[in-house]
Amino acid sequence: MQIQKHPISAPHGSAVYELTSLHFGTPGQGPKAYIQASLHADEVPGMLVAQFLRKVLIALEAAGKIKGEIILVPAANPIGLAQAIQGAAFGRFDLTTGINFNRAYKHVADELKVTLDGKLGQDAAANVRLIRQHALASVKNWQPATDAEALKKAHLAMAIDADIMLDLHCDNEAVLHIYTGTPLADDIAPLSALLGAQAVLLALAAGGEPFDEACSRLWWDLDAHFGGRYPIPPACLSTTVELRGEMEVSYELAEKDAAGLLRFLAIRGVLAEDALPADPLPAPLCQATPLEGVAPILAPHNGVLVYTRDLGAQVEAGDPLADVIDPVSGETTVLRSPVTGVFFARSAHRHVLRGMNVGKVASAVAYRTGDLLSA
Ligand SMILES: [Zn+2]
Repeated sequence: MQIQKHPISAPHGSAVYELTSLHFGTPGQGPKAYIQASLHADEVPGMLVAQFLRKVLIALEAAGKIKGEIILVPAANPIGLAQAIQGAAFGRFDLTTGINFNRAYKHVADELKVTLDGKLGQDAAANVRLIRQHALASVKNWQPATDAEALKKAHLAMAIDADIMLDLHCDNEAVLHIYTGTPLADDIAPLSALLGAQAVLLALAAGGEPFDEACSRLWWDLDAHFGGRYPIPPACLSTTVELRGEMEVSYELAEKDAAGLLRFLAIRGVLAEDALPADPLPAPLCQATPLEGVAPILAPHNGVLVYTRDLGAQVEAGDPLADVIDPVSGETTVLRSPVTGVFFARSAHRHVLRGMNVGKVASAVAYRTGDLLSA
């Protein structure tokens, strides 16, 4: 294992941040995987999963079982990890700029449409190599204006040429679920089965430029731009994995999740075939559905929130999910699912204000447009 330090802070900073990455295997000898934990710094489960990953990867490397290259970033957001407001961790937004740490990544495709003009050919593998060179150069040219942008640039510089990118997050309270690109649905299915995901949410463009899309969407954007004249496969299997809820930090879950992620790396050829026991894949718990089919449930007024359905429940359109109770009048509003699907995420708060998102139901029918992710 090699350890690399990436300076994040600009000169004259009163605090100095650096990002640490752990490198296993040999670049260029096989597929490249990039895994990072807790980009939203207060989403802790991924950082515990990374501890198990590091331990196993050190052993696999010593045994010569890593065929490609694996980069593990066990704590992806040193800026966010240092943020707290009156005792409460605050890791989703950069306090300096107010910008979500998982938004506003550089989308390099627009630049590449110009720089690749006249350079692609009929050899898909050669196109992939060339596009990765141009993508890395485009990231290198990114001039960060803030520490948070410097952090995002460091992530992208390590991940944009990867074959596999796994971004480990969690929700407020949730069952395990996965976000990925629509063209990646088949390739992500084994990961969904291994982790026991109860929703897999697909989009071509979720809006807001999250990190997983910065690594993956350039491929189908370029393919569309060049109109199918050159073979351009979706060469980065990039995904955001939501490791349940923010309080679900346990050795049992983390060890199980790490085992699932490692098995997926073996399936994708990053690890040797005999690196791990090849048990049969578990049966998938869900089919992938469009992100445009996720219904956000919003609080219609302030009040005490009482859930009446469990997470992971299959619900019909019109089924009650929760009550919101005006604590003064006692008046109660029943919140119902507008769609048929799985109730996969909900709030960690039990008093809510008007307009707050108190739940999400994944349905098979796409009906939303515009920005599809919550703030
Ligand atoms: Zn997150």
